[in-house]
Amino acid sequence: MTQPALDLVIAALEKIREKNDRAPRASRTALAQLQAAPVAASLREAGTSPTERQLQAARNKADLLAAVRERVGACTKCAHLACSRTQTVFGVGNPDADLMFIGEAPGADEDQQGEPFVGRAGQLLTRILKAMNFAREDVYIANILKCRPDMPAGSFGNRAPTPTEMQTCLPYLVEQIDIIQPSVLVALGAVAVEGLLGTRATMRELRGRWHTYNSIPLMITYHPAYLLRNQAPSEKRKVWEDMLQVLERLERPISERQRNYFL
Ligand code: SF4
Repeated sequence: MTQPALDLVIAALEKIREKNDRAPRASRTALAQLQAAPVAASLREAGTSPTERQLQAARNKADLLAAVRERVGACTKCAHLACSRTQTVFGVGNPDADLMFIGEAPGADEDQQGEPFVGRAGQLLTRILKAMNFAREDVYIANILKCRPDMPAGSFGNRAPTPTEMQTCLPYLVEQIDIIQPSVLVALGAVAVEGLLGTRATMRELRGRWHTYNSIPLMITYHPAYLLRNQAPSEKRKVWEDMLQVLERLERPISERQRNYFL
């Protein structure tokens, strides 16, 4: 946004304030982006190259994400999860990514390592990315919930997050999406879809076609953990077909080998 455009926005906000009892409201992310706008505009005016501008945009986004990460790290909105977690699991990857994956919640491995999708399911996601010609660092990966859902003492495994837990934590993911502004979102599994869209449906109904989240194209596919439980080639092929649609949407080249690939 250029300085004259920014002045127009400020003038419009001041008018709204004059006419209303309540001051206009904006999210922290929107305010931070407005603050960063003059810097980006001055860089453009200074004749910086597109690559430099991209780098600066990535740096701005990284700074904005770091501020959200700090708030998440101190969050105790779900007292039971704040007590049981080893650490929060914020998200990982390129702050300026075109492609963002959304899972449901950290499991035991993620809780220990502080990074989403690092267990067996995460390793499969990394393999899927590689088959798409992406490294983990190229995309952004986050969960609806930033804390591991707690388990009863003495029990093992992971549990799905509750709708209340997901609603409580969702604003942090919304901020991440607002900052990163990916071209395509991929939701992994029905629980992630319920957390993101508030829609409860079977994967058969949801996957394989485009949805939207805040005007961003959203592909829904199976969670990699499902593929670990169900190794049928037909199920793996479904996920790969969903990923081919993602590559097409991102206008990435697709080789013949990729077209015929089975995960
Ligand atoms: S799950 Fe989210 S909202 Fe709940 S305590 Fe953790 S970071 Fe906070």
